[in-house]
Amino acid sequence: MIYLDNAATTAVSQKAAEACMFAMRSCYGNPSSLYHFGIEAEKLLDFSRETISGAINAKPEEIFFTSGATESNNAAVMGLASVYGKRKRRAVVTGIEHPSCLEAFMRLKEEGFEVAVIMPNKDGLITEDMLFDSVDENTCLLSAMLVNNETGHVLPIDRAFPRIKKAYPGCMLHSDCVQGFMKLHINVRTLGADVISISGHKVHAPKGVGAMWIKKGVRVRPLLVGGGQQGGIRSGTEAVPTIYAFAKSVEELRGNISERYEHATGLKRLAEGLLRDLGCEILSPECGSPYILSVHVPGIKSETVLHFLESKGIMVSSGSACSKGKKSRVLTAFGFSGNVADSVIRISTSHNTSEEDIKALADGVSEAMKSLVKIKR
Ligand code: PMP
Repeated sequence: MIYLDNAATTAVSQKAAEACMFAMRSCYGNPSSLYHFGIEAEKLLDFSRETISGAINAKPEEIFFTSGATESNNAAVMGLASVYGKRKRRAVVTGIEHPSCLEAFMRLKEEGFEVAVIMPNKDGLITEDMLFDSVDENTCLLSAMLVNNETGHVLPIDRAFPRIKKAYPGCMLHSDCVQGFMKLHINVRTLGADVISISGHKVHAPKGVGAMWIKKGVRVRPLLVGGGQQGGIRSGTEAVPTIYAFAKSVEELRGNISERYEHATGLKRLAEGLLRDLGCEILSPECGSPYILSVHVPGIKSETVLHFLESKGIMVSSGSACSKGKKSRVLTAFGFSGNVADSVIRISTSHNTSEEDIKALADGVSEAMKSLVKIKR
């Protein structure tokens, strides 16, 4: 199998799987228990907080584990609005967010907030000025993702957020950093955000684990209440095995972000060249994340290409795996017409992807295009 859908999910690394097994079989105490066996499990959590915070230049006590980025996004958006939106009743979100963020803003709308949605401009960009200009005195929250999961667009939040913070200190800033985490260098001390969301299964850890980084001093009303674990921010017995696996995976990836970035850039350039030669159009921006490539295969529906490639053992996604075959809201927002958006595949690589994989993909797309022509005749 050639797996080119790493933006949807990734293979769990050997080290992460072993860590998970260790925590399940040998260190399965409840981290809240007072005896030694519980304390051993708590040590795994401490290690995990330290490792994950270290990867983004945060402090360990600023990391809160969740069931994944869907929960992190929900908890951040609703939890921040709940605390900071008592008087300021305006909230802003970009129109290209993952549904777990956008839908949380729709909840805010139902609760009486005025919700403004930033759409890309005619060049298909959300600029620093657009983000800055979207905020006013009455805005309690802005959420903008770091890397778009369908196209790889990188939003200039590292420039916009500090500017916004300076001009409107009362506006809370959240970023869904899922597709940038461990792929781009993220430094929360200079990013300007108050809360970021990350997910384990996009970085070779198991599914069902994620985290929020919450800047010290920032208050987030908990989405889940109960036993008061994690300082009461996220009740529920911590999922030690998957959290520890998440940390072990981050530990492995930490040292080689730049190397892996270069590897991904090489693969992206190779794919772009081969696919353009076949007559495909590259929708991802030149300067976007090298890990995600959105490709228009003219004249063939996304799902037809996807299943054709599947028959050759090659896994890609149609637009976004999360939209399950629906026309992509994000591609439409970026200004691609219905015809183009209907015929898009997303290729997303990891450090496990080789040039041979990309060449096999190009051969598969070429064959798909040829056999479609045959069917048309
Ligand atoms: N945000 C982005 C940008 C994503 O790509 C995803 C996963 N598709 C999520 C949030 C949701 O993450 P999880 O699967 O961990 O809930």
